[in-house]
Amino acid sequence: MKLLRSAWVLVLVALMALSYAVRAEEKKQPRELTVRGRIVLLDGSGQPQSSQERVKEAQRRFGLLSSDGKLYTFSPTDPRTQIFVDPRVREKELQITGWLRGGNLEIIQVRSVRGGRLYDLYYRCEVCNITSFEPGPCWCCQEEFEFRETLAGELSEEGK
Ligand SMILES: [Zn+2]
Repeated sequence: MKLLRSAWVLVLVALMALSYAVRAEEKKQPRELTVRGRIVLLDGSGQPQSSQERVKEAQRRFGLLSSDGKLYTFSPTDPRTQIFVDPRVREKELQITGWLRGGNLEIIQVRSVRGGRLYDLYYRCEVCNITSFEPGPCWCCQEEFEFRETLAGELSEEGK
């Protein structure tokens, strides 16, 4: 996991360097945002795909359709979007906190919403004592991860 993380950091650093010129124009601080909605698959033009069933590995890109009808897109290089590959996650109502930057929502936290409560979503391998935010198999023993949804708290009043 450490290796994987380092790889992602390298990719992110490279991307940040590439987009430096663009970002220099966006001097203002990114806005932290919490939105609730459902995950949609996007087509090449960034619009929701008509068929939500097929996920092609190569062109996998996700967005969040908020409960008030706004579409938020995620960067394809955001490692936290890996959890959306799991259909069990995509079918849930989610609450996502992130930074709104350069037109994309950079994910800080993904939680599910059920019955007025918030749940943390993650994967576990008890054998190797590994917690992951990406679906399996476990990179240590190659067994499937166990998908976990654990109570994180009540929904805040303002969000109801
Ligand atoms: Zn394992």
